[in-house]
Formats: sequence, C-alpha cells, structure tokens
Amino acid sequence: MTLNEELYKIEQDAQKTLEEASTAEYLDAFKVEYLSRHGILSTFLRGIKDASIEEKRTVGSRANTLRIELEQKFESKITTLNKGLNRKIDVTVPGKRPAQGHLHPLTIVRREIEDIFLSMGFEIADTPEVEEAKFNFDLVNIPQDHPARDLMDTFWLNDGRLLRTHTSAGQGRVMKNRKPPLRILIPGRVFRNEATDASHESTFHQFEGMMVDKDISLADLKGVIEVVLKKILKREDAKLRFRPSFFPFVEPGIETHVSCLFCKSGCATCKYSGWIEILPAGMIHPNVLRNVGIDPTKYRGFAFGGSIDRLAMLRFGISDIRLLWSGDPSFLKQF
Ligand SMILES: [Zn+2]
Repeated sequence: MTLNEELYKIEQDAQKTLEEASTAEYLDAFKVEYLSRHGILSTFLRGIKDASIEEKRTVGSRANTLRIELEQKFESKITTLNKGLNRKIDVTVPGKRPAQGHLHPLTIVRREIEDIFLSMGFEIADTPEVEEAKFNFDLVNIPQDHPARDLMDTFWLNDGRLLRTHTSAGQGRVMKNRKPPLRILIPGRVFRNEATDASHESTFHQFEGMMVDKDISLADLKGVIEVVLKKILKREDAKLRFRPSFFPFVEPGIETHVSCLFCKSGCATCKYSGWIEILPAGMIHPNVLRNVGIDPTKYRGFAFGGSIDRLAMLRFGISDIRLLWSGDPSFLKQF
C-alpha cells in the first residue's frame, strides 16, 4: 500500500467513526484513537519521515489538512451534544400515566364462580385437558356407540387420547377413589373440533359442579343454581325456570333458563322468547356413580355443566364469543 492509499484508508475510517459517534464516550474514544499524540494520524506522520521529499510534502500536507478537518468536526459534534444535554427541562409538564392492566373478562367470571362455590363448601379440582376417552365418554355414560359422541366433534390425538370436550370428563377422575359426601367444582378449558361463529369457539371454558351425598335431591340442585346464577349475572331479580331435558350423564336431566337480561319483550339474544338457556344439569345417572364405584342405591348426586364464556358474554353484554380470545386491545380495554 502506498502512503497515499494508507492515508486514504485512515481518512475513510476516521470519518466513519466520527459520523457514528453519538455519545460523549464515543467522541472521547475517537479523539484518543485518531487525534492524540499517539493516535493513528500522529503515528502515520511520524512514519513518513523516511519518504521522499516530494511524497513528504504532498502526503504530509494532506494529513495535516485531514487533522484540522477532523478536529473541527469533532468540536462541532461535542458542541451539538452539549447543547442537547443542557436543554431546559420543564418540570411542570404533566407526566404520562403508565397504562394499567386488568383481568380478562373470562378470568373475572371464573374467579367469581370459584369464590361462590368455595363459600358453599365445594372444593376445586383441576383435571387434565388431554384426556382418555374412558373419562371423557365411557365413565359419564357415553359408550362407544352412543349418538352423543357424534354431537361432540372431538380433537383426537395420535395415541388414542383426546382433548376433553367437556369438564364432565373430570367427574370420573375426581370421584374414583373418593367416598361421598363430595362437593366438587371443576373449571377449565374444553375443546371442540367444529366451525366457529358468533356463539361457537373451538376452545372455550366450562365449570362442572357436582354434589354427592345420601339425601341429595333436585331441590338442592335448584337452590345452588339459583344462588350461583344470580350472583354471577349480578341480577338478583333474574327469574329462573327449569325444563326437563336429556343428557346421557344425568337422569332426570334439566335445562335451566334465565329471564333475558337484555329485553322485556324479546330480542335476538333470547331468540324473541324472553328466556336464555344457560345451564344443563340433572341428577347424576346411576350408571355414572356405579362406574366410579359409588353405590347408587345409597348415594345420589346432582351435576351441572356451565359455559364460563357464555356467562361472561351475558354478564358483560358481549355479542360474539370469538372476541374473548381475539386479543384485541380495543375490546379488552372495555372491562
Ligand atoms: Zn331478550
């Protein structure tokens, strides 16, 4: 490399380093590296003393011009930087309040449900989301050829297990190896392999409640449901009605309807009936008790399974279930 080329390289590097130096520390480092007595430029100048007179003159003069130019640029950068640092700060400008987070509507409702049941002496059980068909279907009286299996489109795993389609799957797990009296609440996520729309999601949340003891009757079930629904929906004046229905795991089965929260004379949510179906329930089928080793001639129980998503939608007036898992801040900010 000729001296000219060497100087050109130093110039390029120095300009780039100076350009990029944005703090006092970097500028100081630049000054030491290029402009100090033992810096790159001085070292270069000392190194040309053996060059020809002609070369000394041209290269030396170029090097000195470069030094002056770099020093000027350096000074101007330092001045700009200091100006920025000395900028006046107006301490009376109001501060920015940090955004405060809050609980998701599903969490709010789930925690309230849990609190209400705990206050009534229930215990809360957490059972697996990845479940065996035995617990999801067989033990709750939905055998292999039962048409109810087709009603619950199921996500099957390669190993024969499945994603639970309802929290009823936890009944067998909890009741097995336990002796009544039992008061259990099983809240959690459930999964259905089906198309989504405003009232259907492939992932949603249920709570399964059950109580097993010697003298349990439908009256106990109605009493518990009434307390829970009125508290969760924040509507002490809500009217409830019960209608007979069929679910494989209960006998008799009942549907709970609550008077519409949004209208007096009919709206889209209640399908113009004034009532909203909300909580399938019933007396636990003797087969289910027998399946988990509890003698149905000695013990009876009730069970119900509610959708936490549906209760949250009714409570907060949410029209589309898909919003709950949308993660959309403009939706979530409203709670
Ligand atoms: Zn209505």
